[in-house]
Amino acid sequence: MSEDTNADARLRAVRHRIEQACLRAGRSPDEVQLLAVGKTFAAEDVLRLARLGQRTFGENYLQEALDKVARCAALAPDTALEWHFIGPIQSNKTRPIAEQFDWVHSVDRERIARRLSEQRPAGATPLNVCVQVNISQEASKSGCSPQEAATLARVIATLPGLRLRGVMSIPAPTDDPTVQRAQFAALRAVFETLRAEHAGVDTLSMGMSDDLEAAIAEGSTMVRVGTALFGTRAPGNAAD
Ligand SMILES: *Cc1c(COP(=O)(O)O)cnc(C)c1O
Repeated sequence: MSEDTNADARLRAVRHRIEQACLRAGRSPDEVQLLAVGKTFAAEDVLRLARLGQRTFGENYLQEALDKVARCAALAPDTALEWHFIGPIQSNKTRPIAEQFDWVHSVDRERIARRLSEQRPAGATPLNVCVQVNISQEASKSGCSPQEAATLARVIATLPGLRLRGVMSIPAPTDDPTVQRAQFAALRAVFETLRAEHAGVDTLSMGMSDDLEAAIAEGSTMVRVGTALFGTRAPGNAAD
């Protein structure tokens, strides 16, 4: 099979999984957006999916992401892509994120939020932002606590360069669908709290290649899918 055929088959399979999960949950497939996570893959792989109709792409590693955004723009200047930054953010690296991305899912502290707002270019639309929540409370993970999320969201809502859209989490990996659903339900509760307090909150970013069904059952509005769309990442790059 050619690379194009492979990509087409993977994209169809992922869309089918999303549709089936929505059907089972009594939801419309229009309620769930697919974010294609291309970390470790090339601009050419991104553009292959773009030719098949995928327009929103997520990246984790800043330097890799900036190279890829620039290369996609050079190779396909007429293809408008929407770029989401979903990786850990160092506070001295916020400027290129504020300048080059449409969305950031990984805002987990006030200092980062303030810098992104200040550095968003004048004239650009506000940067769409999700608060990253450490839902399984693992010490090693990025993300604020569910309690801190409400406080951080209030700060974000006052910042002119940002637009608060919702919450994101990367729960502790588990094969147990009951545990998966419990973690996603906990994030959904944070989302509902923010939505009750702020206009414009509409994004519950949860679910990846291995657990998107459980995430959709618990109300996900955006699944972030890497492996199932692009294939297995090279060893050493598998971690986020
Ligand atoms: C890598 C990554 C994904 C995609 O993971 P897959 O298991 O490959 O689908 C989603 N979200 C974040 C934050 C990631 O780092």
